[in-house]
Amino acid sequence: MSVSVQLNHIRKAFDKTYAVNDVSLTIESGELFFLLGPSGCGKSTLLRVIAGFYRPDAGQLMFDGADMINVPPHQRNTGMVFQNYALWPHMTVAENIEYGLQLRKLEKQQRNEKIDAVLDMVQMSEYRDRPVNTLSGGQQQRIALSRALVIEPSVLLLDEPLSNLDAALRQNLRDEIKQIHSKTKITTIYVTHDQVEAISMADRIAIMKDGVFIQVGTPREIYQNPADPFVASFVGETNFIFGNIKEIADGKAAIETEVGIIHTENIHHDFTPGQEVSCSIRPETIHFNENNALNQLSATVGAITYLGRTEEYELKIADTLKLKAIIHNPGTDTIKPGESVNISMSPESVVPLPIK
Ligand code: ATP
Repeated sequence: MSVSVQLNHIRKAFDKTYAVNDVSLTIESGELFFLLGPSGCGKSTLLRVIAGFYRPDAGQLMFDGADMINVPPHQRNTGMVFQNYALWPHMTVAENIEYGLQLRKLEKQQRNEKIDAVLDMVQMSEYRDRPVNTLSGGQQQRIALSRALVIEPSVLLLDEPLSNLDAALRQNLRDEIKQIHSKTKITTIYVTHDQVEAISMADRIAIMKDGVFIQVGTPREIYQNPADPFVASFVGETNFIFGNIKEIADGKAAIETEVGIIHTENIHHDFTPGQEVSCSIRPETIHFNENNALNQLSATVGAITYLGRTEEYELKIADTLKLKAIIHNPGTDTIKPGESVNISMSPESVVPLPIK
């Protein structure tokens, strides 16, 4: 049975530096939850605290309200999948999966039934008796996933499970993990530094930096309303224009910037007049040559990259500012490098963020 996972003020230090520094969070039962952040931000350490491989220096960890701190890892009923598979290479697929069932003292027939069911779920039934070292990376990761799932864990912990695989395989396995999650509804905590993986799969994401959570929310909330410039640039691409709040009232603000006044109607922080802000503007929200639009700027087109589905433009505004614009479904008659254009951004697509 799936459980909720509650973290209260968890801290874990190595050599006096906090890898995880006072994090609190409740992951709901059945959630597909992501820990996303750059290398070294503490996400694997936090996952290992949840698994029981590390004892936190402070804080509480609870599964469905039950204190886990003194429960050894093998009694927490968690299943774990690692980046490097961590399988026994000379054993067969079935033997690798069977191990956890043997520890639980299940009868042979029951063990076989469970192995068959889990191999069916990951579409690997025909490989049942093959030694693991004869399988491809993607196949081995499916077996590692089966081994974690077969014990029917209360929490499934995935530590960068797809990072060793090529792009096409990663995409396939993302879809499969999502399907398996929606079938089993096991509370799943998934660590990655790949924002596309997190956005495309997660129910909710915690963005980590330097051992703390910067923002927790759904992929949509995080992409559309990032908490600060770090989140805005880490999750998706964005442009920044710096400025000061000139006027602010009724959910609208005028911001004085190096390229003139920019208007916003997408405010999620308490700003005061005079405050310095960084306006995040996603490249896909910049439009070309739209008359009568607010936030018009004159730009010179720099490099253009045609990518089939999209086309990317480098834009120079005055001498000091460069912006990136992306248009979808580009036609044949497009803008050329060196051309002067008018660009515009709707007030909804300008997101002012506080600068610390
Ligand atoms: P990555 O994506 O590179 O795995 P991460 O976000 O998972 O990074 P952690 O592995 O949790 O980060 O590491 C967080 C910090 O703690 C890093 O500065 C790391 O060097 C340090 N650290 C992690 N494990 C240990 C350890 N066993 N001993 C000493 N320092 C450690």
